[in-house]
Amino acid sequence: MAKEEAMDRIDMFVGGLAHQPIDGDYFETIDPSTGRPTAHVARGMAADADVAVRDAHAAQAAWAEMNPHARGKILRRVGEALADHRAELAELETRDIGAPRQLAAMTITGAAEYFDYYGSVASSVHGETIPVRADAFHYTVYEPYGVVSVIAPWNGPVNQASRSSAPALAAGNSVVLKPSEYSSMATVAMARIAHEAGLPAGVLNVVTGYGHEIGAAITAHPLVEKIAFTGSVATGRVIGKAAAERIVPVTLELGGKSPDIIFEDARLDVAIPKVLLGFTLNSGQICTSGTRILVQRSIYEKVAQMLVAGAEKLALGIDQPMPALGPIANRMQFEKVLSYMESARKEGATLLTGGGRATGPGLDEGFYVKPTIYGDVTRDMTIVREEIFGPVGVLIPFDTEEEAIAIANDTELGLAAGLWSQDASRVHRVARRLQAGQVYINDWHGQAVEVPMGGFKRSGIGRERGLQAIRSYMQTKSVSQVLI
Ligand code: NDP
Repeated sequence: MAKEEAMDRIDMFVGGLAHQPIDGDYFETIDPSTGRPTAHVARGMAADADVAVRDAHAAQAAWAEMNPHARGKILRRVGEALADHRAELAELETRDIGAPRQLAAMTITGAAEYFDYYGSVASSVHGETIPVRADAFHYTVYEPYGVVSVIAPWNGPVNQASRSSAPALAAGNSVVLKPSEYSSMATVAMARIAHEAGLPAGVLNVVTGYGHEIGAAITAHPLVEKIAFTGSVATGRVIGKAAAERIVPVTLELGGKSPDIIFEDARLDVAIPKVLLGFTLNSGQICTSGTRILVQRSIYEKVAQMLVAGAEKLALGIDQPMPALGPIANRMQFEKVLSYMESARKEGATLLTGGGRATGPGLDEGFYVKPTIYGDVTRDMTIVREEIFGPVGVLIPFDTEEEAIAIANDTELGLAAGLWSQDASRVHRVARRLQAGQVYINDWHGQAVEVPMGGFKRSGIGRERGLQAIRSYMQTKSVSQVLI
């Protein structure tokens, strides 16, 4: 009972106010670092979705009519407020998904940057005049869609939600945002902070609950005019079908199985720590994780030893400094990661390090897994083909540049790719041929709010970040006049 009383109750945030679920239902969430209940979260249903979308719709016209410079100024203030509340939001994210405290704080800083950047460019994205004939005048204007539904995953809740919401808002849309059922606390707090910083009521609303209930309801709502989804390929298909049914545009930011290629002329002192970080940061729960590590055969043994040694030094725990690993963010994903390790054993991969639940002081009750590396894998193994979304890397040897490119592209997914080499011609020659929406050269996870990201192949449709993203939240109107 005492534990019950200590648990937070998380309501939705709609129309600038806390919104309790109309049905009165709440569900329990678990702190993955302890395995214990941490909050009761509102289980919104279709009726709550309807209230949120209608509030967003009512608020949108005035928001869109606002001078873009003034709108941008409010968004920049939101960015400042998120940065000012970094400690509070990071603490909630740590409880939501078990992100180590230092990492959670970094991702909140990243979220603030989205609002700052899109606030800054809000008044600079505009249409063109098109010269056609002397007696005619043609121009384009970019207009918001109206209400945008943003559906976010659990692996970096506030950051991922901000990545879509900030450009959508800067473009003059209002937003109904649904975080994952595993990560609602920080996202609801974010919307409240944004409102307190000056974002008008109804412009950014957060609904909580299950994807197949309130998520499906906001996707299908007749007043939603654009959907921005970040999550798995499987759910992306469902969302894509729902968007097709209603004929609304959709951005899909989906999963990856990204290749990280180490050529024999790579600077290994720089490469090894970043290759490690590439598949262990956030316990591997990053869509762009570099999980297929391709190593030129002449340096394969050396690289394997260095990576194993590095992995075995990584600390685990939410209070450990970067680059420590926190727990896997929820029980469902924890069990999924362990089942991939089981499939690796059954299919005959050689375990080089890790390979199971991590135990020890402070870890036993949480969903911790050891950073894990496999060798002797074949291209048809499950751990080589499927996104694991855990701290698991596979080592694959190659002989030639041509072979490395063929292995790298041998996947249905194409979110990110990377290569390590000091040959200035090779790096661009290979980058050109990698089938991925973003390519890292002598780096991994290096990203900036100005640089677009998104998937080739089944990793998605559309781009987030950069100027491309704000344009994707605007529709083009052409205006033509004959000069009479
Ligand atoms: P899911 O696809 O399971 O869920 C994503 C979101 O969709 C959640 O909010 C979920 O709600 C919601 N949802 C589920 N079903 C529906 C539905 N029928 N209608 C509407 N919404 C629904 O992904 P995860 O949360 O498990 O996230 C991990 C995945 O996300 C990985 O594949 C990862 O690669 C990908 N990802 C991609 C990124 C990118 O930028 N490309 C960035 C980060 C992650 P609920 O949780 O309640 O089910």
